Amino acid sequence: MTSEFILEVKGLKKYFQAGSSGWFSKNGKQVHAVDDIHLQLKHGEVIALVGESGCGKSTLALTLLGLEEATAGQILFNGQDVTHLADKEKKEMRRKIQMVFQDPYESLNPTQTIQEIVVEPLVVHGIGANETERLERTKKALEDSGLKPAETYLNRFPHQLSGGQRQRVVIASALALEPQLLVADEPVSMLDVSIRAEIINLLAELQKTRGISVIFITHDLGTVGFFADRVAVMYLGRIVEIGGMNDVLKNTKHPYSQALLSVIPVPNPRLRRKRIILQGETPNPVNLPSGCRFHPRCPIAEEKCKQQDPHLFNLNATHQAACLLLENYQ
Ligand code: SF4
Repeated sequence: MTSEFILEVKGLKKYFQAGSSGWFSKNGKQVHAVDDIHLQLKHGEVIALVGESGCGKSTLALTLLGLEEATAGQILFNGQDVTHLADKEKKEMRRKIQMVFQDPYESLNPTQTIQEIVVEPLVVHGIGANETERLERTKKALEDSGLKPAETYLNRFPHQLSGGQRQRVVIASALALEPQLLVADEPVSMLDVSIRAEIINLLAELQKTRGISVIFITHDLGTVGFFADRVAVMYLGRIVEIGGMNDVLKNTKHPYSQALLSVIPVPNPRLRRKRIILQGETPNPVNLPSGCRFHPRCPIAEEKCKQQDPHLFNLNATHQAACLLLENYQ
């Protein structure tokens, strides 16, 4: 039976040995990069994963793709447990889950032509009966990604394209494999502001026409407001708020989400929110604060927030803000 969800994540954790990823610890402590994530994604759904740099959203994406091994928890893809797969099965799964990375300058091999770049994954996965068929797929993927006519791009090299065109090539090479899930990790943050909207519109159109599910990772909630069905806000390895995009935008519950939302530029001055500037730095994920891990920066923290971890007793934490004081400031 086909699962209702394309992706289910249950209690997923990814810890690194401290010191192996830039944080130094003498005590053999661990970096809690992803810490007890629960998430469900329906077929054809778009979810925005939002949070500041270092909150664990990219590590979560890499773990979902099997590029990082999960420390604990379970990942189900189309109802099948894919948490710890053998290499052969992993390869097959990666065809169905494709990733668009942040930096189109680094994700394209500068020595390959655009044709070689897009054809390569088809060859690796044994897709297409022959070269002619693979070339046709390549051209279609390029044209669907806005690079028309495809023939004018096939023999060019990445350095001969603009930043936006390069990101379109990255998207084309993911699309050529006809994935069911696209994980886009900050796909527009390296691009000029003028072409960000074009790339987001392209992803929105592809999602609509192909029915692909999308996880859109961003630090800027403002970039995906119109595109995503739901939003999950991450802080220090955990989802602190999740809900329908409109619900979260109109009725933001968690103080961290409120701070993120308050800094989104709004052209109409009458609709502008009061900016909430959080005090202090994001704590070191090796030495997490006691109680609620947001308490050192939370503008409404109370004494009990230092002792109680709302995530641990809020059994429905993935469906509402995991906060002790919700009723006090709604
Ligand atoms: Fe702030 Fe306390 Fe809610 Fe944490 S539990 S977000 S510290 S009010």
